Amino acid sequence: MNADPAAQRQLLDLADVDAEIARLAHRLRHLPEDVEIAELEKAAAAEHDESVKVSIVVEDFDRDIKKLEHEVDQTRLREEKDRALLQAGTVGAKQLRELEHELGSLERRQTALEDDLLELMEKREAVQLDQQRAEAAVNATREKIETVQRRREESLKDVEVARRRTAGQREDLVGQLPGDLYSEYERRRSASGVGAGLLRARRCGACRLELDRGFLDRVGKAAPESVIHCDECGAILVRTNESGL
Ligand SMILES: [Zn+2]
Repeated sequence: MNADPAAQRQLLDLADVDAEIARLAHRLRHLPEDVEIAELEKAAAAEHDESVKVSIVVEDFDRDIKKLEHEVDQTRLREEKDRALLQAGTVGAKQLRELEHELGSLERRQTALEDDLLELMEKREAVQLDQQRAEAAVNATREKIETVQRRREESLKDVEVARRRTAGQREDLVGQLPGDLYSEYERRRSASGVGAGLLRARRCGACRLELDRGFLDRVGKAAPESVIHCDECGAILVRTNESGL
């Protein structure tokens, strides 16, 4: 196959643009923000679990406190009832002693219940602090995720701008190339990833391999219009003044 040497040289620009397009696609698939977000989501999930766990402990304390408060109320009512009876002065001596005895034990019980209640409330307060800390951690991590997500959007916009620019460059280049040369480039590109490379310092610019001396001799003798393929990777081997032939 023959093609104008100038057109062959343009394939190098096309290969550069295609490499840039591949770089952009790779960047899209490997956004550092995606890794960051995945790690933060994992942290947020663990922090949320911790927050739920602590909330359950707080709820348990609340239930115990409510129960104890009810007992305190019941004891107080009983005390008030006993005192009212005492003050009414309508009870006999035996019942009087019984009432006084009962009042004594009710007061001791009341004190014990109130001590227990106080202890429970202190414990609850400590756990509630843990709960607040856990919730604050979840919120802080969610805020971080939002910040990284905004940064990710910016990266996506940058890639999109570059993608449009390179797509335009590619379209222009392809428009200037002879159709058969472009088809050949595309065939080689889909086969090995790179359609064309510059021959320089005995190496193919597409696969970077050093080429055989006998092959290079044949390339040196070939007409400039002749389209040569790399012996190693099959890419179109473009010759320029830099090729050193
Ligand atoms: Zn090659």
